[in-house]
Amino acid sequence: MSLFTEKYNIHTHSFYCGHGSGTIAEYVRHGQENGLGLIGFSEHCPFEDGFLYRSRMSFERMKDYERDVLSQREEASIPVLLGYECDYFPRYRDYFSSLKDSGRVDYLITGTHFIIRKDGTRVSPFSDRLSEEDVLCYRDQMAEAIQSGLFSFIAHPDLYMAGFSQWNETMQKVAKEIITLAMEYSLPLEINANGFLKPEVDGRPPYPYEPFWQLAGRMGARAILSTDAHKVANLTRNKDRLEAFAAKCNVNLIRPAFKNGQLEWDS
Ligand SMILES: [Zn+2]
Ligand SMILES: [Zn+2]
Repeated sequence: MSLFTEKYNIHTHSFYCGHGSGTIAEYVRHGQENGLGLIGFSEHCPFEDGFLYRSRMSFERMKDYERDVLSQREEASIPVLLGYECDYFPRYRDYFSSLKDSGRVDYLITGTHFIIRKDGTRVSPFSDRLSEEDVLCYRDQMAEAIQSGLFSFIAHPDLYMAGFSQWNETMQKVAKEIITLAMEYSLPLEINANGFLKPEVDGRPPYPYEPFWQLAGRMGARAILSTDAHKVANLTRNKDRLEAFAAKCNVNLIRPAFKNGQLEWDS
């Protein structure tokens, strides 16, 4: 098993998202100084209709963000990738698909930060206690995102356990279904260190959630490591802890490479 976690981070935010800080130039410089061989920016993707506007830049701001990342790429001594982290809902499929095909971005990732219930109300694993039904809804949304074929990896697939306390039969079934589907679609799952920096839930970090990753390890799923930094100082923070966590769960880690304009994996 190769652990190259200190060499890349492809889930990175900046001041553009509105709840993070640091310029693109500052992240690139910090990454270079701390030995990264690859950095990818994945700002929360805005929607033209303003959906989820509180947690992301405005739609109009996308061109500034994209120009900024591309101009840093010119200056940098390491590959600098341009991407977005997308909250996927089927009604935005065409939007994400045309963004992916536009030639403007190198990659898109998906993360489920919001659960839209059948009655239209919205909850988040970050801030709400979820019901079993909410978690099933999370699973369905994630399944649709995976099946869309638009994304390069799945950010914090275990996030639902931040909002749910028992690793009961339903939670285990949801984990198994998400992991199985990701494997079927050859999509890496991401172990995300940002949860180490958040307030504990039931005496443990909200994520990564160990039983989920123990299961992923047993199932042979492929995974990558990210810091999901929202501050420059967090770009390479907790990498050791992340590596130790992955090793403990026996997760099969793979490495990203940027070849011929494509984000690829080494296995
Ligand atoms: Zn964020
Ligand atoms: Zn993120």
